[in-house]
Amino acid sequence: MEFRNHLQPTEGPDGSGGRPRLPLSRLSLTGRILIALVLGLLVGVAFHYLVPAGPVRDDVLVGGVFYLVGQGFIRLMQMLVVPLVFCSIVCGAAAIDTKTLGSVGLKTLLLYLLTTAAAISLALGVGNLINPGEGVDMSSLAAVPGDGDAAPLDEAAATNTMDTLLNIIPKNPVAALANGDMLPLIFFALFVGIVLARLGRRVETVHSFFVQFNDIMMEMTSLVMKVAPLGVFCLLARTFANVGFEAFLPMVKYMGAVLAALALQLGVTYMALLWVFARMGPLMFLRKFFSVAAFGFSTATSNATIPLNIETLEKKMGVDRRISSFTIPLGATINMDGTAIMQGVAVVFTAQLFGVPLGPAEYATVIATATLASIGTAGVPSVGLITLSMVFNAVGLPLEGIALIMGIDRILDMCRTAVNITGDAVVTSIVAKQAGRVDMAVFRDPDAGREVDDVRVAVRQ
Ligand code: ASP
Repeated sequence: MEFRNHLQPTEGPDGSGGRPRLPLSRLSLTGRILIALVLGLLVGVAFHYLVPAGPVRDDVLVGGVFYLVGQGFIRLMQMLVVPLVFCSIVCGAAAIDTKTLGSVGLKTLLLYLLTTAAAISLALGVGNLINPGEGVDMSSLAAVPGDGDAAPLDEAAATNTMDTLLNIIPKNPVAALANGDMLPLIFFALFVGIVLARLGRRVETVHSFFVQFNDIMMEMTSLVMKVAPLGVFCLLARTFANVGFEAFLPMVKYMGAVLAALALQLGVTYMALLWVFARMGPLMFLRKFFSVAAFGFSTATSNATIPLNIETLEKKMGVDRRISSFTIPLGATINMDGTAIMQGVAVVFTAQLFGVPLGPAEYATVIATATLASIGTAGVPSVGLITLSMVFNAVGLPLEGIALIMGIDRILDMCRTAVNITGDAVVTSIVAKQAGRVDMAVFRDPDAGREVDDVRVAVRQ
């Protein structure tokens, strides 16, 4: 079956292509997002340090306009997720023969688990090298203000390994769709897709309904992308206006350790895997993937980046959508390497702070439970903190440790989300390449997929 191109290049409103355009509109979407990132950071820091507190700064701008536009953008992206994931998995599973689905699925799962386990091991190593919890004054850390977005800790008690596994099978698929429960949703969608493929021509109408609905969702995605730079600016301006730089200071070592491990995972582990197992050039990959990572960074929401991730992999890297439409939503749901890294460092940090000794057995337990915690972490902000309690419980660390890192978690959440989604894309590329489903001519072409970046590209210059 055929998958259509979803993002068509759109011309300027005049349609002539001849009118001179403002310099900003000549920039690709990536360029505009990058500028929005930097401007948002600068404006946020300036607000925090230079603009006196008052109703205009706090209520009208930071808590008003920035909050409204930033959250509005995230909601627009999230609005697309459930219908898009459902349709794309149904279409993906229906289009792929069961044998391929089996081998692709198994390999993907295995790679997701292995990269997560490698990520935690790396985090434990870096944590023990930097020793973030040594010599830190706990009483001053306890005063760090909490992030309003963080989820309440008592929810963590409900997280249980067996339930995490059982919950993959939805008791009620409609409820799973309505609540946006990703794992049961993926399970049900896969099932529907496989049965569609089995029944073939008998269910042609339903099959084309899903394909066409998928087209609608992708078109909606391209429209939402147009407001991305504005959304990114407001999200960052608000975060930095609220937190500033000082709030980070007591936690600099902890942050440094998490960031170092994230950078190693991204720059070394992923790039080595990509080169060794797929022979795909790391620099080209990173260049083409930048805008997706920037989305993940600014929204701290893996789920919201699913559409752009699939689109970028297909148009810029030549990765067959029939693979990515299955592996990317799955990865955004169960493969959280960045989150696992934060959890690994948090374990070392808290153990050092509270003087809890950790031996090889405890480290093995941390690797196993954090891998499961990563599966149970939903791709939305702050959930990694909730599932961290699973890991802490397993090795007897006090949950107070989580409260300590909550205050600065948002900025790390942004960074780890970018790593989470990069991991999904790397594994997808490897699996697709090995299945012979990557068009390397597209991957090597530096200009391939410009329409993903530049939704307003003037095709007739
Ligand atoms: N925000 C992360 C994500 O969406 C999950 C987490 O670590 O809290 O991927």
